[in-house]
Amino acid sequence: TPRIGVLALQGDFEAHIKMLQGLGADAQAVRLPRHLDEIDGIILPGGESTTIGKLMIAYDLHEVLQRKIREGVPMWGTCAGLILLAKETDNALAGQPLLASMDIRVRRNAFGSQRESFETDLSVPALGEAPFHTFFIRGPQVDQVGPEVEVLATLDDGTIVAVREGPLLGTAFHPEVSGDTRFHQYFLRIVQSVKR
Ligand code: GLN
Repeated sequence: TPRIGVLALQGDFEAHIKMLQGLGADAQAVRLPRHLDEIDGIILPGGESTTIGKLMIAYDLHEVLQRKIREGVPMWGTCAGLILLAKETDNALAGQPLLASMDIRVRRNAFGSQRESFETDLSVPALGEAPFHTFFIRGPQVDQVGPEVEVLATLDDGTIVAVREGPLLGTAFHPEVSGDTRFHQYFLRIVQSVKR
C-alpha cells in the first residue's frame, strides 16, 4: 500500500485523506517533519497559499518538503497547493514562502469576481474519455509552462488548469470534492511507478 502524506496545516486536507482511504491508500496527515518519514507521495491541499506557506516555515516543513521534491518523491498540489509548487507567481507577497519547484508561472485568484467559484466538466485525456466534473474555488491559472511540463487539461478558452512535470502534479481546481476518484488514482499510479 502506498503511504501518502497530506499536508494538514490549513485548508481542505480532510477530503483528500478520506478519498485516499477510500482507494485503499495509507493516508497520513502531515503536521510535523517526522510525519514525512517513509512517505511515498505528498498532497498539498487547497486553502490559502500565503497561510499554508507561513505555517510550513513555522512547523519546520518547508525545507524537508523541498528535499523530498529533490529526492523525486511525487507531489501533487491542488489549488493553493499548486501555487506553492510553482516557480513563479504573479503576486507572491513579500516573504511568502513557496516550494518553487515546478517550471510554471501561476496567477492567483485569476478567475476574478464573476467566476471566482464555478464548476465545470473538464476533458482530461489522461483520465480517459468521461469528463471530470470539478470545482474551481478562487483558483489560480497557469500562465506559462516550461518545456518539460505536460498540460493535462485546459478550459474551453485554452486556460491551463492541470499540469504534470515528471513526478510533480498540479491542478487549479479541487478534485477531492467531486466524488470522482480518477485524479487521485492517477496520482497513486505516479507514486507506484516511482516506488518500483
Ligand atoms: N485563493 C487561494 C490562494 O491564492 C487558493 C484557493 C483554493 O485553494 N481554493 O491561495
